[in-house]
Amino acid sequence: MTKKTGNIEIQTENIFPIIKKFLYSDHEIFLRELISNAVDATQKLKTLTSIGKYKDELGDLTIRVKVDKENGMLTVSDRGIGMTAEEVEKYINQIAFSSAEEFVKKFKTKSEAEQNAIIGHFGLGFYSSFMVSEKVVIKTKTYKKGGHTSAVRWECDGSPAYSLEEIDKKDRGTEITLYIDKENKDFLEDNKIEELLRKYCKFLPVPIQFGMETIYEPIEGEKDKDGNAKTKEVKRPKIVNNTNPLWKKSPSETKDEEYKIFYKELYPYTFDDPLFHIHLNVDYPFNLTGILYFPKVKKDYELQRNKIQLYCNQVFVTDSVEGIVPEFLTMLHGVIDSPDIPLNVSRSYLQSDQNVKKISGYITRKVADKLTELFKNHREEFEKKWDDIKVFIEYGMISESKFYEKAEKFALLKNTDGKYFTFEKYKKHIETSQKDKDKKLVYLYATNLDEQYGYIKTAKERGYDVLLMDGVLDPHLINTLEQKFTDTTFARVDSNTIDKLIVKEEEAPSKLDDKQKEKVKIAFERIIDKKQFEIDFEHQSENDMPATITQNEFMRRMKDMEAIGGSGMMGLGGLPDTFNLVVNTNNPLITKIAEIDDEKQQDAIIKQIFDLARLSKNLLKGKELDSFVKRSVEIIK
Ligand code: ADP
Repeated sequence: MTKKTGNIEIQTENIFPIIKKFLYSDHEIFLRELISNAVDATQKLKTLTSIGKYKDELGDLTIRVKVDKENGMLTVSDRGIGMTAEEVEKYINQIAFSSAEEFVKKFKTKSEAEQNAIIGHFGLGFYSSFMVSEKVVIKTKTYKKGGHTSAVRWECDGSPAYSLEEIDKKDRGTEITLYIDKENKDFLEDNKIEELLRKYCKFLPVPIQFGMETIYEPIEGEKDKDGNAKTKEVKRPKIVNNTNPLWKKSPSETKDEEYKIFYKELYPYTFDDPLFHIHLNVDYPFNLTGILYFPKVKKDYELQRNKIQLYCNQVFVTDSVEGIVPEFLTMLHGVIDSPDIPLNVSRSYLQSDQNVKKISGYITRKVADKLTELFKNHREEFEKKWDDIKVFIEYGMISESKFYEKAEKFALLKNTDGKYFTFEKYKKHIETSQKDKDKKLVYLYATNLDEQYGYIKTAKERGYDVLLMDGVLDPHLINTLEQKFTDTTFARVDSNTIDKLIVKEEEAPSKLDDKQKEKVKIAFERIIDKKQFEIDFEHQSENDMPATITQNEFMRRMKDMEAIGGSGMMGLGGLPDTFNLVVNTNNPLITKIAEIDDEKQQDAIIKQIFDLARLSKNLLKGKELDSFVKRSVEIIK
């Protein structure tokens, strides 16, 4: 064959200038595309061998990546099936070009936001090399024998003109050389290329070599003075990938320890072991493998650092899996590998894709099954891990009703004594003691053990149980549970609901009659702000506080919502803080107020009682706190 020149047949318009300009932020994907092609060519040859169509030695199949900074060249070479001259014309000039054309055409009409939303940007293939090159050369030699099978060289400088000629090439396979253009010189830096290889090629199934590495080999028969084997420095080609990632192994043959080691391989900068893992492995009705980990999270922000990585046949695609896994599971760690996720479509399209829906449903189910299994067979371990995993489970229960249905059987509630209960058990636990006058079951909870200490103590003394609900998602979970449980309300331990519960022990009779109560009330109203505090009387025990402050549960929740910006309608001006001041008619200080007539004396006692009540609810601040302290010192004097 003599040297042939020609023009690549353009269907619609010259795409080369467009390729150069667009996808600017994702220029780096060219390397993934070239190496994926090299892997495909290698895998095809292996297949031919396995079915007896190729009988020669396979030899070393390592894919090599080389940078020649001086000459501005980056080369990817493989020892795969190679191409004949006809195949180059067919696959490179025609098929690859027209599919790149089609991709560009579709891509170009989209807004930048939509372009970015296209997962993985697969579709440009070989021609993505022109994003970073002024010229690309292919040298290739087919595995085929006889006929027109000599090696060929193809060259194209980014105009539709190309040349094709016969050359001498010793090895079977394809070598693609990019002459990197001025704007993209960073792709000639070893560090940059190594970083990209580790990102996109970390788990490709064919070994990929880049540069050399130094290792220390023991010298046979030689020992140092401590009796350790002496070593020598040896240089060897550096393989940058693990061709056999753990998720490809069968779950039944994989040990716990291996999952932990693999976790470190995925996230080298993470020190904590994961809490547990879930090995995904299906081939019908879609193909999906992977490993998900429940991470140990110390701080909320850490959730964002390590992400689930999405692979397609061991090629890294992206680490933003929104739309593919259910939102509440995007906080997990691990890998998912599936050739059945459409990759050159936008995320909004994904949500309507049937396959993706099935995949998402499958993952949710597997996670729920694993949790159920842990709960049933390793209850103690499950409880120990509960505080760490609850954020994931609660998120799932709030956002996915399918998950809720499974989770309600294993989700736990923890009380302020640190005891764990299932939903069913807890209901039984409080059923007889915590009903209000409407026969509704009241779940008491605390959100802060220190701040609500006094209230928790009082509730427990009255024979109630108090849950600890101090997680970030607990307020939302409470709303969900109130909808799911019948005839149930949740009330924070410092809310006024608790006074309306059926008291377990016999109530002490009130020591004040209505007239005396009225007298006490008038006295209190001289001191307190009536707009903010409403007085309630309770006949508690003598030893209970003379007065405590409670808050209406509903109002408090509205305030909380307002604080996190969740309620638009109350945005203007804000809700007023209103409280109940519960006065204990049996406390000796209160009976004293009812007995004396000297207003000054009454005021002095009430001020102190009121401030103490505010103090235990963290409401006494600034100037008022200061005058309370000074007044207290005076009293001691
Ligand atoms: P795709 O890989 O999606 O088919 P590409 O544009 O990347 O599209 O490649 C087009 C075709 O060129 C491939 O399908 C293959 O037939 C051929 N090809 C590309 N690279 C190689 C290679 N390294 N070895 C053998 N054939 C290759």
